Amino acid sequence: MNEIEARIVQLNKLLKTYGHAYYVLDQPMVADGVYDQLMQELIALEADNPSLIFPDSPTQRVGGEVLSRFTKVTHDTPMLSLSNAFNEQDLREFDRKVREQVGTVSYVCELKIDGLAISLKYKDGLFVQGATRGDGTTGELITENLRTIHAIPLRLKDELTLEVRGEAYMPKVSFERLNAQRKANEEELFANPRNAAAGSLRQLDPKIAAKRHLSTFIYAIGGDGESYGIASHSAMLSYLGEQGLPLNPEYRKCQTIEEVIAFVTQWTASRNDLAYEIDGIVIKVDRYDQQEELGYTAKSPRWAIAYKFPAEEVTTTLLAIDLTVGRTGVVTPTAILAPVQVAGTTVQRASLHNEDLIKEKDIRIGDRVIIRKAGDIIPQVVDVIVAERPADSVPYEMPKNCPVCESELVRIEDEVALRCVNPKCFAQIAESIKHFVSRNAMNIDSLGERAVEQLLTAGLIHDVADLYELNKEDVMALERFGEKSADKLLAAVEASKTNSLERLLVGLGIRHIGEKAAQILAANFETMDSLMQATEEQLVTIFEIGDKMAESLVAYFANEGAREVIEHLRAVGVNMVYTGRPLAKESEQDGIFANKTIVLTGKLTQLTRSEAKAKIEELGGTVTGSVSKKTDIVVAGEDAGSKLTKAEQLGIEVWTEQKLLEQL
Ligand code: NAD
Repeated sequence: MNEIEARIVQLNKLLKTYGHAYYVLDQPMVADGVYDQLMQELIALEADNPSLIFPDSPTQRVGGEVLSRFTKVTHDTPMLSLSNAFNEQDLREFDRKVREQVGTVSYVCELKIDGLAISLKYKDGLFVQGATRGDGTTGELITENLRTIHAIPLRLKDELTLEVRGEAYMPKVSFERLNAQRKANEEELFANPRNAAAGSLRQLDPKIAAKRHLSTFIYAIGGDGESYGIASHSAMLSYLGEQGLPLNPEYRKCQTIEEVIAFVTQWTASRNDLAYEIDGIVIKVDRYDQQEELGYTAKSPRWAIAYKFPAEEVTTTLLAIDLTVGRTGVVTPTAILAPVQVAGTTVQRASLHNEDLIKEKDIRIGDRVIIRKAGDIIPQVVDVIVAERPADSVPYEMPKNCPVCESELVRIEDEVALRCVNPKCFAQIAESIKHFVSRNAMNIDSLGERAVEQLLTAGLIHDVADLYELNKEDVMALERFGEKSADKLLAAVEASKTNSLERLLVGLGIRHIGEKAAQILAANFETMDSLMQATEEQLVTIFEIGDKMAESLVAYFANEGAREVIEHLRAVGVNMVYTGRPLAKESEQDGIFANKTIVLTGKLTQLTRSEAKAKIEELGGTVTGSVSKKTDIVVAGEDAGSKLTKAEQLGIEVWTEQKLLEQL
């Protein structure tokens, strides 16, 4: 068996296992994106090697098996799947092929509801039979369960005999409520609303389905639409709606593929606003005669395509593990990946967090790994597909020594991270200088990361203070620096000398002292000297400065090396004084109650009058006792009397105590 054949066999096996878990057990083992990606890989391999398409390949069949505990029912016409589009190019390709065959078309775009396909039969207007899609040809009879869904009418407006198809789904709130209940009962949770919906309909007791609050959207007629004297899908939808069947209101008729793409873009952005989950957009050729001309493959119609939203989880190969040493010496492993598209962007690196994660998941170089990137979050390695592991793989071992300076790494108690504790480690110095010049610290933006490394390697700087001793020749000797860029860099270094104290405090990279703490410290102590002399007791009296911060500051200023750097910075002329807005004025000017007169009336239940008064004054407001035209806000507690009446007469803004609390 050659390599391609082996991979095809492996993909067949994997997809069958995952498909069974998803379609039959309603307990998916991997995210849909992972399944889709493997399926696409198999489709591509089969296209190039048609002799290796097995008759039972997952590419050749629709959905899952039919469970024997239900009565089986053969569909009058097969219930098919849809072929997939994953990007704009796929949609344009679909449009091109369609127009090539049938000329001008219009499309209907519908939300792709993430539930399970169902068939409903009506006889003389009465609901008589409901079934799952099953394997496309044969489904499971679940009439009684479907009867419990209120959205499904038990009688149509007219006495019609017909079959409709649609999606049964579980709204997000029902899903959350159900899982909360299951958690409380220590029952296994459903992975997502789709599986919860399928699991609810595919069990024998209709009472259970009734409790699950499912719903339904109908999206098609079963069989030949034209035999009803209707010429298009959109007209059919209107007709079905008139009969009282539930339609999804968001469908839209589009005249061009541009309009289709705009619809797709719009819903990609706003899918989370819906009360139910959707996993894509279905695009259908509208006219029935054109649908007929386009026809079907064994698995799906050629006149429709399902656009799938970018997957947030996909698989790729872990090529290597890169180790970086941060400013504080923490060694962070990063996964180097075979490039892969996740949530619309190409990913080549992903976070592995720390050694514990690597151990816990037994992540090895060469593994197929699952990557997740949700929203703007940094991509992460979430799991390994052990079934796809190469036979010769070995567990990954973190190094014993710093990958940069080679000194021995230590694991500090209570910390999961491995650390390089050598203060002279090149990586740590480089990172701390990069941090010093970064935008939120001293903001020397013309000094890039690469230049910092060059300056260090050339021995022109050893710590942050050395930056202020650089001259033009030094800088011009660096790669990619000319006269102009050297001037620009030196001017930026010079300008940073006048920064207010808080920027310098951020730049020094003291543990636990971020921007906010630096701002509070600088505003309170005003000079570096008084801050350096502060004791832990003094520090913790400041609102928002906690024990850890105080301890870290005192330890930092007690360190001889740190003091040397500070003195060096002072000697080269770096400002050590707070030049931001003075503390007291800040709250007066910026406080939400600045220049506002407030009257408190009635009984406050959560604050005492004097607490409320103090808080308002802290935020720049004045509290007075009587309501006049000059009053800006009246806060009315329980049983407020004449003051409230007067406020209403004068048209003054009235707040409840709750609103006051929220604003505070
Ligand atoms: P599909 O989900 O790609 O598309 C066809 C289905 O879309 C229809 O049968 C219907 O149920 C549904 N649909 C929703 N709204 C519709 C609308 N407005 N018009 C028409 N149809 C609409 O195909 P499939 O065969 O049901 O399932 C394949 C998908 O299932 C895969 O792409 C994958 O995402 C998921 N899957 C996941 C796993 C896993 O392990 N996570 C395993 C197997 C399948």
